[in-house]
Amino acid sequence: MEQSDLMVRRIKEGTVIDHIDEGKGLQVLNALQIDGKDGSLITIALNVPSGKFKKKDIIKVENKFLKDDDTNKLAVMAPKATINMIKEYKLVEKRRVSLPNEIDRIFRCANPDCITNSTEHIESVMDVINKEGMVLKCRYCARVLDVTELKYN
Ligand SMILES: [Zn+2]
Repeated sequence: MEQSDLMVRRIKEGTVIDHIDEGKGLQVLNALQIDGKDGSLITIALNVPSGKFKKKDIIKVENKFLKDDDTNKLAVMAPKATINMIKEYKLVEKRRVSLPNEIDRIFRCANPDCITNSTEHIESVMDVINKEGMVLKCRYCARVLDVTELKYN
């Protein structure tokens, strides 16, 4: 049994985000605004051995279930992640993240002259034009966006 399986089992209610790319765990925490301020138990495991030569990060958060925006952020930042939903100590749902066709609001366009970066308060809309290659395109200014450089709102 892998150590990560034990971590999955010990939570009562909440979410275990598994298979986060090595080194991305803290970034994911930040993006999902998981800060522990509500007093919930949070466990973060970085560099957990996964397979022979690989490592992964794992985040376990009690009393939190991910919303669509959270899942979309994850799909961009940690495309290999799996979301495990736990209720009464049982794994009730396990799914992989996947990129939607369109991502609204959560990321800021990289083009400083884009209308979504002006004072007009227009929310960003990005089309996912290549899911495999993770290529996004701003619907307003047509800039092709590198997901590793995106800043989230
Ligand atoms: Zn734009």
